[in-house]
Amino acid sequence: MNTVTRPRILVVGAGFAGVGCVRRLERRLSPNEADVTLVTPSAYQLYLPLLPQVASGVLTPQSIAVSLRRSRRYRTRIIPGGAIGVDLKAKVCVVRTVTDRIVEESYDYIVMAPGSVTRTFDIPGLTDHAFGMKTLAEAAYIRDHVITQLDLADASEDPAERAARLQFVVVGGGYAGTETAACLQRLTHAAVKRYPRLDPSLIKWHLIDIAPKLMPELGDKLGRAAQEVLTRRGIEISLGVSIAKAGPEEVTFTDGRVVPTHTLIWTAGVVASPLMATLGAETVKGRLAVTPEMCLPGYDGVFALGDSAAVPDLAKDDGAVCPPTAQHAMRQGRRVAENVIATLRGEPMRPYEHRDLGLVVDLGGTDAVSKPLGVELHGLPAQVVARGYHLGALRTNVAKTRVATNWLLNAIAGDDFVRTGFQARKPAKLKDFEYTDAYMTPEQVREHVERGAGAGTGQP
Ligand SMILES: Cc1cc2nc3c(=O)[nH]c(=O)nc-3n(C[C@H](O)[C@H](O)[C@H](O)COP(=O)(O)OP(=O)(O)OC[C@H]3O[C@@H](n4cnc5c(N)ncnc54)[C@H](O)[C@@H]3O)c2cc1C
Repeated sequence: MNTVTRPRILVVGAGFAGVGCVRRLERRLSPNEADVTLVTPSAYQLYLPLLPQVASGVLTPQSIAVSLRRSRRYRTRIIPGGAIGVDLKAKVCVVRTVTDRIVEESYDYIVMAPGSVTRTFDIPGLTDHAFGMKTLAEAAYIRDHVITQLDLADASEDPAERAARLQFVVVGGGYAGTETAACLQRLTHAAVKRYPRLDPSLIKWHLIDIAPKLMPELGDKLGRAAQEVLTRRGIEISLGVSIAKAGPEEVTFTDGRVVPTHTLIWTAGVVASPLMATLGAETVKGRLAVTPEMCLPGYDGVFALGDSAAVPDLAKDDGAVCPPTAQHAMRQGRRVAENVIATLRGEPMRPYEHRDLGLVVDLGGTDAVSKPLGVELHGLPAQVVARGYHLGALRTNVAKTRVATNWLLNAIAGDDFVRTGFQARKPAKLKDFEYTDAYMTPEQVREHVERGAGAGTGQP
C-alpha cells in the first residue's frame, strides 16, 4: 500500500526559471521533506540566448541543450509532456505526454514556469509563412533552410528565382532579431564564396522593426553602434516598418515595398505561454499577475515566474514588472524555490528583487555591443564580455566546454555549410513549432478534472 504523505511540489517548465527552481529544491530539501516533479516536453534546458548561433551553425544544437539528467544527484521525477490546463481549486494539472496521453497530476504546491511563445499579430499569411526563433528545432531548421536557398539559387537558371531565394527578411529589432540577422548574414556571406555561380551582391538581408530604434534598451549610442556594424555588412535596416502580408514567395512591407523572398523570420517579441490563460486568473498582458513573492493572490501554494508571470520589479519604483529575460528568470527560479520551502516549513517568504545587470549582444565574429552594469562597450571588449557572460551563465561544465570548443573551432576553421536535411519536407512554420493550440479552456479543464476525479496521478 502506498502510504506516502510527503507534500508534492509540481514544477511546470524546464527553462531558466523551472530548472533554477528544481535544482535549488533538490539542494535545499531532504528527500523525505517533499516529492518534486517536473513537467517538461523536452529532456533539456535550452540556453535560448545562443539560439541565433545555432541557426548560423557556429554552435551545434546539442551544445546549448543542457541535459536534465546530467548528474546522479538530480532526483526530481520528470514527466515528459506539456501541461495543457490547471484546475487551481482541485489542485490538479492536466498534462499531455509526448505520446499524446492525457494524465492528471495532483499537487500541493505548483510552480508555473512555462515561459513564452512568439508573439504574432493578425497579419495575413504570417503564421503560415514565417519562421520563429524560439525553439531548438526552429534554429536547426532555419540553418538548413538558408543553406537550401543558396543551393537552389545556385542551381536555378531563372534570375527572378535566384534573386528571391537570396533575399532574407528578419522582423524584430530587439536583441533576438538583431542577433539572428547578424549571425545568419555572416553565414551567407561566408558560404557564398563556395558558390562560384552566385553573384554575392544578390544576397540581401533586411532587418525591419516598427519601432524607431534598434534595441532601445541599449541606449542611443550602442544602438547606433550596432546599426553601423550591420549596415557596414550590407544588412538593410528599415525602422518604423512592419509587414502588411506574407506569402510563400514574397513579403509586403507596410511602407508598400514588396520583397520577393522565401525566408521570413519573425522575432517581434514574445507573449506568456497560453497555459496561463487556462487558469481563469488575472493576467497583465497575458502574464500571470503575481505578488513580489511570486505567489498567485487568493490561492495557496500557487507560484509563477519567468516570462509567463508579471513579477513586480522592486528594483524600479515605477510599478514596472520584470522584463522577460533569462537574467530574471533564473534568479526568480532560485527565489521561488526558497519561498516554496519557506511555506512548507511555516516560515516567512521573501520578495524577489534584482537590479538588471545589463545586456550583451553578440553580432558574430569580433562584433558585439554590451552594457554590463551600465558600462557601454562595443567591438572586441564587448564580445569578450558577451561570451564570458554566456559561459558563466550556462549551467554545466560540459555545456560550457561544448560552447567554448565550438567557438574556438569556428574561429580556427570557419563556418561549415552542411545541409543536414533532417527536417526536410516537414511542415516547419511558426504554427508548427510552438503547439499553441494544444491548451484547454478553463471550462474544459474543470470538466475534465471533474470527470476524471479519483483517477489520481496518471502514469505517462
Ligand atoms: C533568440 C533569443 C535570444 C535571447 N537572448 C537573451 C539574452 O541575451 N539575455 C537574456 O537575459 N534573455 C534572452 N532571451 C530571453 C530569455 O531566453 C527568456 O527570457 C528566458 O528563457 C525565460 O525563461 P523561462 O524559464 O521563463 O522560459 P524558458 O526558458 O523559455 O523555459 C520555458 C520552458 O517551459 C517549457 N514549456 C512550455 N510550455 C510548457 C507546458 N505547457 N508545459 C510544460 N512545459 C512547458 C518549454 O519547453 C521550456 O523548456 C532570449 C530569447 C530568445 C528567444
